[in-house]
Amino acid sequence: MPNGDDKTTNHKNVEKLKENAKEGRDGKKEKEKDDRDKDLERNIDSVIFGDVTFKAWYPSWYPKEIIGEKALSCEGKGPGITVKELYICRRCFGYSKALVEWVRHCRCCEREVPGTKVYSHGAEGEGGGWSVWEVDGGVETLFCQSLSLFAKLFLDNKSVFFDVSGFNYFLLVHTSPRTLETQIIGFFSKEKMSWDNNNLACILIFPPWQRKGLGALLMGVSYAIAKREGIMGGPEKPISDLGKKGYKRYWGAEIARWLLGVRDTDRKKGKGMVDVERISKETWIAPDDCLSVLREMGVVEKAGRGKGTVERVRVDKQRVREWVAKEKLGLERVVHEEGFMEGYALKEVEAEEEEADEEEVDEE
Ligand SMILES: [Zn+2]
Repeated sequence: MPNGDDKTTNHKNVEKLKENAKEGRDGKKEKEKDDRDKDLERNIDSVIFGDVTFKAWYPSWYPKEIIGEKALSCEGKGPGITVKELYICRRCFGYSKALVEWVRHCRCCEREVPGTKVYSHGAEGEGGGWSVWEVDGGVETLFCQSLSLFAKLFLDNKSVFFDVSGFNYFLLVHTSPRTLETQIIGFFSKEKMSWDNNNLACILIFPPWQRKGLGALLMGVSYAIAKREGIMGGPEKPISDLGKKGYKRYWGAEIARWLLGVRDTDRKKGKGMVDVERISKETWIAPDDCLSVLREMGVVEKAGRGKGTVERVRVDKQRVREWVAKEKLGLERVVHEEGFMEGYALKEVEAEEEEADEEEVDEE
């Protein structure tokens, strides 16, 4: 914990992390690390984060000073849980096994939300509400490493944790309208330079705040930023199982909103011919992702190819509505463009095309 002489401990942790990062660049060690994660058992049982306690889901990569040497050995069966409760600072994500140390730290940790606010959501103007803050992993290195270590407890497979400098982190922050106290409740990370046009590397809403549609808010922000940057892409693959579920819902809702809003070419049957390129351009979801989710939704019939290689599909609007109802999705916009700080991430001062009139067409 960065508090008095605890600073040295934290400094040591950083050195350890750097060491690990160096090892990580070596191919063989990289593989060992993957194997290690496969073989490792869950080694921390619960975390105490501010005033909430919840279970860890996956093996942690906290240093051996925390989880013990044995937890890191993958020869034979590991020792299982070595830390019953790990105390995490809800501001800086510093950690400790000792309650007294943690309490002392929390009392004086005044870590404000780092980085810059890039997006305000909903009632934020009235003092409370949600906002998204961008943090440079190369500037707030220790913070981002601590956040990543915490996140690893709930993420299965990502190996981006040691070298955080190549990433930006987008924190989802809740501000209490009563006390104006802020709380980070999730984030997504994004490569500063992605050769695959990934608009997101990993995403996590901390468990106590899950199932409230906040993942969709972060996904929406990641797409809105990518659109501002003029980059068409998607989340880094492979996506975890939990991520897949979330994205399926997000993509499905985005596409359904657009499809139900667009005027039909064949009004009688409620079936419109659309090509996937158009859906993709309108929703900013990559064509492959559009097609895969449309198939999963079970709302399309193949309609051959249009001019050249453009894949065309026939969409049954009634089935879209049924899917939306079955998934209990709202179709209101998740992200509001006016919530972004002026000019944020806009690469060129190109006037964006006016959104097409999106009043719902309620034909049968
Ligand atoms: Zn702290």
